[in-house]
Amino acid sequence: MTNQDTIFSKIIRREIPANIVYEDELALAFTDVNPQAPVHILVIPKKPIAKLTEAETEDAALLGHLLLTAKRVATEAGLTNGYRVVINTDADAGQTVFHLHLHILGGRPMAWPPG
Ligand code: IMP
Repeated sequence: MTNQDTIFSKIIRREIPANIVYEDELALAFTDVNPQAPVHILVIPKKPIAKLTEAETEDAALLGHLLLTAKRVATEAGLTNGYRVVINTDADAGQTVFHLHLHILGGRPMAWPPG
């Protein structure tokens, strides 16, 4: 299962609106429409990788770039007290949008383990 045309592809193509907070040639970051924390931003690759399990060795640099983008976006959001980065992958993790994305959650203390 690859390259589904998800709602995130539509955001990349500007076919639906989003509050975009960062963009470069490889990645896009925008606020989550249903925030689970005071700061909740999604970082996505422009390449339509459906889920982490479909990332390949050739995507190594892109995956690193997404993490560094998450750091950048979290810093720019003022999350000086810490934050959580989450990648829900497939059914047991509750993935609902099948375009790889990193959740950046911050602005409140978080429990562990997650639900
Ligand atoms: P998942 O459950 O890890 O797949 O996360 C998908 C996330 O995408 C959820 O947190 C949704 O609230 C979010 N989401 C779905 N549609 C949109 C949208 O159109 N704009 C921004 N966030 C969205």
